[in-house]
Amino acid sequence: MDNCLFCDIISGKIPSTKVYEDEEILAFKDINPMAPVHILIIPKNHIDGADKLNDDNSAIVSKIFSVAARLAEEYHLDKGFRIVTNSGDDGGQTVRHLHFHLLGGAKLNTTLC
Ligand code: AMP
Ligand code: ZN
Repeated sequence: MDNCLFCDIISGKIPSTKVYEDEEILAFKDINPMAPVHILIIPKNHIDGADKLNDDNSAIVSKIFSVAARLAEEYHLDKGFRIVTNSGDDGGQTVRHLHFHLLGGAKLNTTLC
């Protein structure tokens, strides 16, 4: 997808600190961390956001959650963590490529919005 920051990270055009990669998924450190551990987990196939998930493309979400659990173990988030996805303007999505924030390493604020 042209003009997509995360597609450019996947292709290597824009550098990132990768922490996990397979054929379908990339995980890398958020450039502006909101917690001691703040990792973004994304599908390599461009999907605009959670609003564009459907029966044909949503299997990747289950795989992303498996990667999140694996990274949580790797980063010793044994006290807990949070997975967040923002969708659209009201949801605060700034990068229009589906991504899941994995946050942890400290007691997180409990307000949901
Ligand atoms: P969202 O606001 O939910 O769309 O999340 C987008 C996230 O991408 C934000 O947390 C940004 O800090 C992060 N971000 C933006 N540019 C980069 C980049 N070049 N490398 C890593 N993370 C980025
Ligand atoms: Zn993209």
